[in-house]
Amino acid sequence: MLRSVILAASRSTQVERLVATAPFTRDVVRRFVAGAATDDALRATRALVTDGQAVTLDYLGEDTTTPEQANATRDEYLKLLRLLGAAGLTPAAEVSVKLSALGQAFDEQFAYDNARQICAAADAVGTTVTLDMEDHTTTDSTLDILTKLRKDHPSTGAVLQAYLRRTESDCRELSAAGSRVRLCKGAYKEPESVAYQSAREVDKSYVRCMNVLMAGDGYPMLATHDPRLIAIGEDRARWFDRDPGRFEFQMLYGIRPEEQKRLVGEGYTVRTYVPYGDQWYGYLMRRLAERPANLMFFGRAVVSK
Ligand code: FAD
Repeated sequence: MLRSVILAASRSTQVERLVATAPFTRDVVRRFVAGAATDDALRATRALVTDGQAVTLDYLGEDTTTPEQANATRDEYLKLLRLLGAAGLTPAAEVSVKLSALGQAFDEQFAYDNARQICAAADAVGTTVTLDMEDHTTTDSTLDILTKLRKDHPSTGAVLQAYLRRTESDCRELSAAGSRVRLCKGAYKEPESVAYQSAREVDKSYVRCMNVLMAGDGYPMLATHDPRLIAIGEDRARWFDRDPGRFEFQMLYGIRPEEQKRLVGEGYTVRTYVPYGDQWYGYLMRRLAERPANLMFFGRAVVSK
């Protein structure tokens, strides 16, 4: 119930205005977002890479409605990739891209062209691009664009969401050699017709999907903070004889940093998803919807002001 309310609010410009201007917001945003500027992203990346982690950077923004906005997002990624390469932070750092920020909602071909340029810039500095997955109405379009991008940029990865009923089958499609798949639970509000609704069903689906990916020939990226799923991931790595270079764990910036360090200490590859930019609203609301404790963090910030 609470999750549904927060996810509905994540699409409301009125609530966005309220949250953005509230005095306590800055402290909350700072926990989950590296900062507003490219330099902030580079600083956070350098610190994580120094600690032995890999990084994927997300320039925040989604649901772009104009070509100008979409091109500005593309240009930021091109600049970011140049700077990451020049700073020697690739291939440890790669980028995550939301196609809706590149124009997918108003022109799929336009979004593809923008994504292609980002993939070429990533190739030029020896790193990769992963396409984030948004709500289920965009899944087919995103997977179609992935197929086209992989013709020239075969290392392009995609995200699959375990809460969607179709995902186990998508995992089979994408478990072949050369593919890179980030498996996550899924962060949007989806109808029962397409998505499992209970946490138990989603977790069971996650394990089935993980089994398919870990048994396959691609490169699985297990994105979760869930201790049970991480333990199952470690077990499957042993079972399928995947050493740390043949799969990775992924977590979000600011969430369970001690667990990230523990996994690095155990010799696993761990990639942190680092969001930056000033369009943090939708991202922050999805993090709050995921976990009541994150809401309490929000509450504490309000009380302390
Ligand atoms: P949850 O069900 O949220 O949490 C399970 C358990 O994990 C909790 O009970 C608790 O024990 C532990 N836990 C969780 N958070 C904390 C915390 N803050 N502190 C301590 N313990 C905690 N979603 C998309 O829809 N599309 C994407 O493209 C996408 N990309 C992602 C990329 C990465 C790298 C990650 C990590 C997530 C991504 N997500 C994406 C979000 C994802 O779908 C989930 O919404 C999010 O990861 C929360 O699910 P969870 O697996 O962590 O488990």
